[in-house]
Amino acid sequence: MTDFLFKRMTLIGIGLLGSSISLAARQKGLVEHIAVHTRSSETLARAEELGLGDSYHSDLGESVEGSDFVIVCTPVGVCEAVAKSIAPHLAKGAIISDVGSVKGSVIQQMQPHLPDYVEFVPGHPIAGTEQSGPDAGFAELFVNRWCILTPPKGTDPAAVDRVEEFWTALGSNVERMDAHHHDNVLAITSHLPHLIAYNIVGTASDLEIVTNSEVIKYSAGGFRDFTRIAASDPTMWRDVFLHNKEAALEMLGRFTEDLTALQRAIRWGDGDALFDLFSRTRSIRRSIIDAGQEIEASDFGRHLKEGETHAAKLASDDHEHTGS
Ligand code: NAP
Repeated sequence: MTDFLFKRMTLIGIGLLGSSISLAARQKGLVEHIAVHTRSSETLARAEELGLGDSYHSDLGESVEGSDFVIVCTPVGVCEAVAKSIAPHLAKGAIISDVGSVKGSVIQQMQPHLPDYVEFVPGHPIAGTEQSGPDAGFAELFVNRWCILTPPKGTDPAAVDRVEEFWTALGSNVERMDAHHHDNVLAITSHLPHLIAYNIVGTASDLEIVTNSEVIKYSAGGFRDFTRIAASDPTMWRDVFLHNKEAALEMLGRFTEDLTALQRAIRWGDGDALFDLFSRTRSIRRSIIDAGQEIEASDFGRHLKEGETHAAKLASDDHEHTGS
């Protein structure tokens, strides 16, 4: 059979993103061979039990040998070390990509180490859940989600087209943009909301006037939805903030100013200011639902009926996840 998009794809890191790519690529018949590398022998063994690859490699260099497509699916903080290790083993003409939630830093970390006979097409699927590890993956993760490609200047357009074709086949809508712009947009749509969630859950757990059992008991009052985001992987999110520092601080500055204005409105009893803002924000949620990026249900479609699989739920109600 010759109509595979890639002959041999290496996934470096086989957590939520790596395992979902593996399952989806196999389901769609996009690659002939999937090679898997991850840092720990435990995760590698689990990936093998789950059948996520065709070959399993504890040696990073060996895992990319002969591959025409390599996707780095690790936390963004290790991209430089990964690029250094794989560089001498990469095949001529191979396409190197990633799924990191930050793009400027990934390019800075990786590009200087990659040989000029490979093509570098960084990517970020805006699709995720608060789960991590190889058991968390599912083939439908990318369906109807955006995937942003940020190829640096000079990348062969044919290589970018092939990566776009790959993500489109996984069900994503693909957009190309400059890495700097990506990092600013994601700072407000994803990174800041995660920081707010981590902060509010941290504040609640530190409060002495409210007991822990009350926090849990009355969580449906809004807190519960923040806890889902605040349960996201600590390593991944630590790296996101360390590697998108400038944009995150800029958005945090604006957020703090707006919060101060709200504080003033409450203090001075300015109901109109509060009502105006709350009306504006309500219409933004409506636009997100209209754009098919969320559903109307008050449980955000998160409750599975007994026996219903995650994938079936997603397929049936087109669906739930916040992208990261
Ligand atoms: P994950 O489930 O925690 O998996 C991370 C994987 O990277 C694991 O296989 C882990 O290996 C491996 N790893 C960690 N450090 C490594 C190292 N030094 N060398 C080699 N492998 C290493 O993470 P994820 O959610 O898939 O996220 C992976 C990437 O996708 C991150 O860059 C994140 O920014 C991006 N992303 C995440 C989401 C999301 O919602 N989760 C969405 C879009 C993009 P071991 O288990 O063997 O230690």
